[in-house]
Amino acid sequence: MSRTSTDPRDAVKRFKDAYRILLTCHRNPDGDAIGSELALAELAGRIGVDAAIVNRDATPANLALLPGADRIVVADTLPEDFPDGFDLVVTVECPGLDRAGLEGLARLPILNIDHHPANPAYGVVNYLDETSPAVGEMVWRMYGEIGIVPTPATATNLFTALSTDTGDFRYSNATEQAFRAAAEMVDSGAKPAMVAEMVHGHRSEASVRLLGEVLQSLRIESGGRLAVMTADEEAFRRAKARPEDTEEIVNIPRSIAGVEVVTFLKQFEPGIVRVSFRSRGDFDVRKIAAGFGGGGHRNAAGCTITGDLGDAERRVTTALADALGNTP
Ligand code: 5GP
Ligand code: MN
Repeated sequence: MSRTSTDPRDAVKRFKDAYRILLTCHRNPDGDAIGSELALAELAGRIGVDAAIVNRDATPANLALLPGADRIVVADTLPEDFPDGFDLVVTVECPGLDRAGLEGLARLPILNIDHHPANPAYGVVNYLDETSPAVGEMVWRMYGEIGIVPTPATATNLFTALSTDTGDFRYSNATEQAFRAAAEMVDSGAKPAMVAEMVHGHRSEASVRLLGEVLQSLRIESGGRLAVMTADEEAFRRAKARPEDTEEIVNIPRSIAGVEVVTFLKQFEPGIVRVSFRSRGDFDVRKIAAGFGGGGHRNAAGCTITGDLGDAERRVTTALADALGNTP
């Protein structure tokens, strides 16, 4: 029988019972995913449980500076001793098991930890809280539940999770709960200025050059409410950029007065278009992304479309313009 709760109790119980955990997160990992994984791996170590972190996609360069990040293994298949050498899979921020991008995870029991809406509770234990500002905050509550004092390294990892997922405490999920958890993390040794410097002060040269390329593609449509940008293979090549260099770019047009929705379509390799959506206010980009087989949150979502960049751009722009047409 599977259990689902917004409370960390069952998650902690299952976590403590394990002997060797495989931790993984969603593709294109962000600060919440990486920070939470590292803090969970540390928690495992503190209670005598072995843990390995295996992610499908590379850790962005700034997040690779987090304490313990060198233990993250990036691979497109599970370890050779999986499942025999493990007894629990912990998924972090995966609103669908396929989001991890690793085949075969379901061969072991899963502890599913997430704050996305519409997570289908595919684990034996599902610690799911849509109202939580970040999975990092949920992991922080696991430390509280288990009664282990977080180290400054843990506090730093989880403060990074929380501050990145709330857009440096600017988005609507920067709730009282977020600030309370943040204060506790600072009490435990997290240094907000150092985290901000780490997160925002370590962009690659290629990401800034790619920004230049991408801004030239910027189009404003739907009477100023929609911004569309693209990065084709040529743009990536000229900027010497890789997919992880696209990270912050989508947020920039969201600062244009009147723009409610931004979409950024990226084609790094032939036939595969990664699409990012951002919105402000009530416009729900998760619904649009879901229409293309993706998902996410109301104000940040994504999907992958197979085919050609121009085609994907037309389909996505039409869907957004239609939805905007129906929203006053
Ligand atoms: P990003 O634009 O940064 O790649 O993704 C923004 C958010 O959308 C992520 O935090 C994640 O929640 C969600 N997301 C992105 N791509 C996908 C996808 O292909 N499927 C689902 N279900 N969610 C996605
Ligand atoms: Mn998150």
